Amino acid sequence: MADAAYDYDLFVIGAGSGGVRAARIAAQSGARVAIAEEYRIGGTCVIRGCVPKKFMVYASDYGRKLKEARDYGWQIEEKGFDFETFMSAMHAEVDRLSGIYLKNLANAGVDVFEERAELSDAHTVVLKESGKTFTVDKVLIATGGTPWRPAPEDLPGVEHTITSNEVFQLESLPKHIVIAGGGYIACEFAHIFAGLGVETCLVYRGDTVLNGFDWDVRTAVHEGLKEAGVRVVTSAVFEEIREVEGEECPYCVKLSNGMEINADTILMAVGRRAATEGLGCDAAGVNLSDLGAIIVDDESRTSVPNIFAVGDVTDRIQLTPVAIREGHAFADTIFGDKPWSFEHDNVASAVFTQPEVGTVGMTEAEARKAFKKVDIYKTRFRPMKTMLLNDPERVMIKLVVNAEDDRVVGVHIVSPDAGEMIQMIGVAVKMGATKAQFDATCAVHPTIAEEIVTLRQKWVPDTEPA
Ligand code: NDP
Repeated sequence: MADAAYDYDLFVIGAGSGGVRAARIAAQSGARVAIAEEYRIGGTCVIRGCVPKKFMVYASDYGRKLKEARDYGWQIEEKGFDFETFMSAMHAEVDRLSGIYLKNLANAGVDVFEERAELSDAHTVVLKESGKTFTVDKVLIATGGTPWRPAPEDLPGVEHTITSNEVFQLESLPKHIVIAGGGYIACEFAHIFAGLGVETCLVYRGDTVLNGFDWDVRTAVHEGLKEAGVRVVTSAVFEEIREVEGEECPYCVKLSNGMEINADTILMAVGRRAATEGLGCDAAGVNLSDLGAIIVDDESRTSVPNIFAVGDVTDRIQLTPVAIREGHAFADTIFGDKPWSFEHDNVASAVFTQPEVGTVGMTEAEARKAFKKVDIYKTRFRPMKTMLLNDPERVMIKLVVNAEDDRVVGVHIVSPDAGEMIQMIGVAVKMGATKAQFDATCAVHPTIAEEIVTLRQKWVPDTEPA
């Protein structure tokens, strides 16, 4: 396997979830491996994504829990939320995790370079700070994605905005935030900030958030945002951001519908792009999509036979566990003599709104396109806990079934702990379980999740309760 003509058997660019997993597995299989990271070991998920975001969700949710506790009879004297205490605890945990990633790489025998790496041709990697150059047999590009923002000529004042990178570095809690976008990040942070008591406004160009999700999920989340106190402005985009007088709200966002909204913090959450700029893909001959993502085959191989790519930098699913599996499959296949490739179907995922979204498989619309007849089972109800609360929160559970073979091809949940539920249901859906098998599974009572196995009545559009 090893070719002594090269300095390394594998050079991984990017030490995020996918790159770290691939580097470790390849090194454990006996390859001589190096990895380079320009920002911090751990990548988006650990440093400025899933992990700190989830801590912020927890922090935000405690506000609601305090209110709920009162309705349940607890006498609580509330003194407010100490943002600084929370942020320093959160960053300490992020530092600890980043350290573990570094230690695991070292333990596996991977050489780690904490600086930017670029390709100067298909077999040469250059480190930008030290100027070191290495010849390499195989390259894995795992540089992830980066938040996208419009250019200043398209959005004057865009320099006053932050992205999901800077949101984790805020020094104080905003008082008035405006968020652009209606995807994962926009919806999650709208709930986070509203829950922390920030006056929150979300501006979305469409009519219902979470484009691409099942319609019932979209409407439930859209309503949930409003119930959480988020001001939701639809069919509008930012037109201009200007500085204004006033300590509390130094910025004014002008929208395409003529509205003006004052804020102290403006978060652009309008999508992410593959981090390929200046990486040397052209010099190496690696083909990119129109949006700059690396095009790969089922084995994560690019247009250049010795160069591979995994994770958000490719034009596939942008989720941490997917990047990890792609990286693992690559390393096992190329260095471990254990060929396999990751199947990108039925990948369960969660959106950490409050309540959460859990989803796996096809939406109703996708299933109706794919199959002759589709049966829908769905329910929307107030969970038991809320019966003692002054809280309108309802949950939604929906099963999409291919009527021809009775297989459950999609499950969509909006509920507290939906992320936990969908992880379990994902196993059944991946195994091809039928509705009859769901029905044969005995309920766990009293839970929200029991509804997943007790939905008996097919949904008929005309009979849906108002
Ligand atoms: P998304 O693609 O989810 O959402 C982007 C949003 O921005 C959409 O609502 C889109 O509108 C809108 N938009 C795009 N371009 C413009 C524009 N020019 N002007 C105004 N609005 C615009 O991206 P995110 O940045 O939220 O997240 C990126 C990815 O990261 C996600 O797709 C997901 O895979 C991953 N992620 C996963 C999380 C999780 O697992 N919980 C959490 C966070 C991120 P439209 O809908 O009309 O296209």
